[in-house]
Amino acid sequence: MTRSSRPAAADVLHEVFGFRAFRPLQGEVVEHVSAGGDALVLMPTGGGKSLCYQVPALTRSGTAVVVSPLIALMHDQVRGLVQAGVRAACLNSSLDAEEVRRVEQDLLAGRLDLLYCAPERLLGGRMLDLLGRIDLALFAIDEAHCVSQWGHDFRPEYLQLSVIQERFPRVPRLALTATADERTKGEIARRLGLETARHFIGSFDRPNIRYIVAPKNNARQQLEQFLRREHPEDAGIVYCLSRRRVDETADWLQRQGRDALPYHAGLAQAERQRNQQRFVNDDGVIIVATIAFGMGIDKPDVRFVAHLDLPRSLEAYYQETGRAGRDGLPANAWMVYGHQDVAMLRQLLAESSAPDERKRVERQKLESMLAFCEGTGCRRQQLLAYFDERLDQPCGNCDTCLWPPRTWDATEAARMALSCVYRTGQRFGVAHLVDVLTGKDGDRVRQLAHDRLSTWGIGKAHSAREWRSVFRQLLAFGYLTVDADGYGSLCLTERCRPLLRGEASVTLRQDPEKRSRRSADLGRRFVDAATRELWDALRARRRRLAEEQGVPPYLIFHDATLQAMVEQRPQTMAEFAALPGVGETKRQRYGEAFLQVLSGDGALPAESATGGGVASSGSGS
Ligand code: ADP
Ligand code: ZN
Repeated sequence: MTRSSRPAAADVLHEVFGFRAFRPLQGEVVEHVSAGGDALVLMPTGGGKSLCYQVPALTRSGTAVVVSPLIALMHDQVRGLVQAGVRAACLNSSLDAEEVRRVEQDLLAGRLDLLYCAPERLLGGRMLDLLGRIDLALFAIDEAHCVSQWGHDFRPEYLQLSVIQERFPRVPRLALTATADERTKGEIARRLGLETARHFIGSFDRPNIRYIVAPKNNARQQLEQFLRREHPEDAGIVYCLSRRRVDETADWLQRQGRDALPYHAGLAQAERQRNQQRFVNDDGVIIVATIAFGMGIDKPDVRFVAHLDLPRSLEAYYQETGRAGRDGLPANAWMVYGHQDVAMLRQLLAESSAPDERKRVERQKLESMLAFCEGTGCRRQQLLAYFDERLDQPCGNCDTCLWPPRTWDATEAARMALSCVYRTGQRFGVAHLVDVLTGKDGDRVRQLAHDRLSTWGIGKAHSAREWRSVFRQLLAFGYLTVDADGYGSLCLTERCRPLLRGEASVTLRQDPEKRSRRSADLGRRFVDAATRELWDALRARRRRLAEEQGVPPYLIFHDATLQAMVEQRPQTMAEFAALPGVGETKRQRYGEAFLQVLSGDGALPAESATGGGVASSGSGS
């Protein structure tokens, strides 16, 4: 096929993927690579990296080879492309000999637009020879940070991918990742021979994610309220630090009537896989997980990520929260944290057998995480600043923007708290110290004769909750540290001196009262019952089509497309084709099925009728 007969990028975008316009950086990458250039692309999760190589794969002649580290991701991508009418296949260890043979035949016969390939498979001499015999459109190396030995996802095979450049110097190559930091970027460029390639660096802002950080009082109750108010039936991820907490939380959510499943390294492989499958394929499943969960899951409609424990670093926080809202629709990143978290993470660090240099780096990361939590400025500005990106205005979509925190001069209270630590011998944790300060009578206080200390009851002006907040912040800001005795005892640090001597003051954040009045409105989708029923009916139809084909519902259509159906109420094929996410193949395949649901004045199709009987409002928006 001659070059001139290849389609234009804009036509591919529209006809195959159903989108009107490229995102800013995406358009530039596509143009550059379509014209044969090499590229290094850094874009956040959900930024639209896939189209950066999928579109050039179709505008250029020959087959595009995509290196991808995870079988699950590969399958997902291939099935999504096939849904859109693209000739795509994958080669990895999950295929049997017969399947491999078929893919290879298709490849040699020029019947593939895209071939996804595991790195070890690509590097086998046989595969390289095969590729030498065909017309190649480009090489895309996805999750390119796997080449970095410093990251968590290091894959030794990735180091050998430099062979691509040696064997196929004329074929354009692009590497893509959502990892932002300079060091990783440098390593990718060096190891994959992309120093002279054009670098495309996107903003790492995820504007559709609302960041909320709240002091931990009663974590479960707080989670329960958050879910009830904002995500009564959405899919999401709840992160906890320990396996035990994962199991307990999943159990508890189940008892609350939620479809919640645990995920951690202590579960049998089969169970983990089953739970992950349920999360991907069913609507509204909550996964409760340790950090082990997430990589290799591209589910676009995760509506919330909740942290019940503090992540170790802002990198981890950004990565984990980034799993929410890949589809660009509003999503919540919600976290509660308390002095227990600070104590625990500090202690883990102290006990760690890592080399000092490493410990120092980790300690700094934890400090940054804590400063973020206790900060009073816009969360998004803080988060982006950490990744060296400037956001000029406060975002208006985080807790500190929505509910600006008040601060107070806590010098006096801080002195009381620190004296109390000192007078009790630096051997007690927050709970006991708060008892002493508030003058709470109890056996333990009496046994220890702490009711005779000068600090006993001097803090009655503040509630126990306020004192916990003070201790949390003193810990976070480094006035206090945690003893490595395993009991969470607090000790003073050097930083206390000027404060105790009356030479320094301290301003703390006032923890917000309950926010019950103002349930954050995440742009609820449904204005009335009829709209809601239409939404449910569309989802039911999508689910049925997905089950028939054994694919996750989002591969039929994303929520964004269903939402556009609800808003625009298309009645004809032409109107249907204009929806975002509806390309030519999907229009042909699914147009009828959804138009059926959409017609009939919002009435329900028989299979999903649940006895609604609500008259259509006829509201078109
Ligand atoms: P990434 O790989 O960077 O995490 P994806 O390639 O999965 O992101 O894209 C994220 C989401 O954005 C997907 O739902 C995709 O369909 C959507 N998307 C990508 N590009 C566009 C575009 N130009 N217009 C509309 N939606 C887009
Ligand atoms: Zn903000």
